[in-house]
Amino acid sequence: MAGEAKDRVEAAGASESAAGAPGPRKPAYDGLLSVIIPCKDEAESIPLFYAEFLKVADSMGNPDFELIFVEDGSSDSTLDEIKRLASEDSRVRFISFSRNFGKEAAMHAGMQSARGDYVTVMDADLQDPPELLPKMFDAILNEGYDSAAACRITRDGESPLRSFFARAFYKALNFLSPMKFREGARDYRLMKRKLVDEILKTDEANRFTKGLYEWVGYRTKWIDYKNVPRRAGTTKWSFWQLAVYSLDALTSFSTVPLAAAAVVGLVFCALSSLAIVILAVRQMIFHNSAFGWTSMICAIFFLSGLQLFCLGMLGQYMAKIYNETKRRPHFVIREKSF
Ligand code: UDP
Ligand code: MG
Repeated sequence: MAGEAKDRVEAAGASESAAGAPGPRKPAYDGLLSVIIPCKDEAESIPLFYAEFLKVADSMGNPDFELIFVEDGSSDSTLDEIKRLASEDSRVRFISFSRNFGKEAAMHAGMQSARGDYVTVMDADLQDPPELLPKMFDAILNEGYDSAAACRITRDGESPLRSFFARAFYKALNFLSPMKFREGARDYRLMKRKLVDEILKTDEANRFTKGLYEWVGYRTKWIDYKNVPRRAGTTKWSFWQLAVYSLDALTSFSTVPLAAAAVVGLVFCALSSLAIVILAVRQMIFHNSAFGWTSMICAIFFLSGLQLFCLGMLGQYMAKIYNETKRRPHFVIREKSF
């Protein structure tokens, strides 16, 4: 059975390489694939995406799929484009937000309405190449993985400043969070239904989907690819929005900053205690200790250190309350015998 599926995927891959060649008759997978496409101001990209996706679907033997466009408060004719496609192709569905809620909200809405046995998220601008899908299915159907994730190994075409901050962000996140995040990881990944169900159980309002993918766990195959430039239009993320997003991600998956005050406070207390002891000894032995300003500063440092330490301890309790309010499931089971 698995061998048969493999043959199908290999056949799909083969026909993919032969541009324009008709796809195999047998579809590359059984069941339904849901493709979630968050779109904000993507009127130009949508027809290009649709045409490209159909090509890949054809190379995979025209399996069953649904395209769920999530229109995220666009100010151009994105919704009209989507409606036109939906009127021509019943596999196209859409959700339209009342205003711009952001890509995270769009992905969440898409996952909630996805009906597929397999689910994937792709950007509308074709920066998440649909051509990776046959490889992703191969990993899931034949190599025993539960998901296959795309990872960008180059950042060509991106501004050097943006690349620098992106790298710095991943370093900081990996340093501060108990979980490990792969630099260059995209929101684009193919998942089995059960992963999406687990992701949907997390009900937090500040969502960082890439973090939730990691949090849910399961076996993931990483598929590296070189950055592809946006096919049409311009990026929808300003530098400032990216900075806020990074901070959101960091605070969603790490409570270490809350402990920082306690550490700084302890260091202050320790250093000022040492200074107080030195001053006292100097006074007792040499009777030349510095009075006034010096001893005052030592006392201030000691007390402010103590205050910072207490703040840090409060932070620890806040971190616990914060984690409770996220109401994430306590564990995720991969399989069981009963
Ligand atoms: N997007 C969205 N809502 C937003 C911003 C972006 O749905 O508020 C969509 C956008 O239309 C695209 C995807 O998210 O399909 C990725 O956005 P973009 O290509 O602008 O990001 P970049 O690739 O530059 O990081
Ligand atoms: Mg893009």
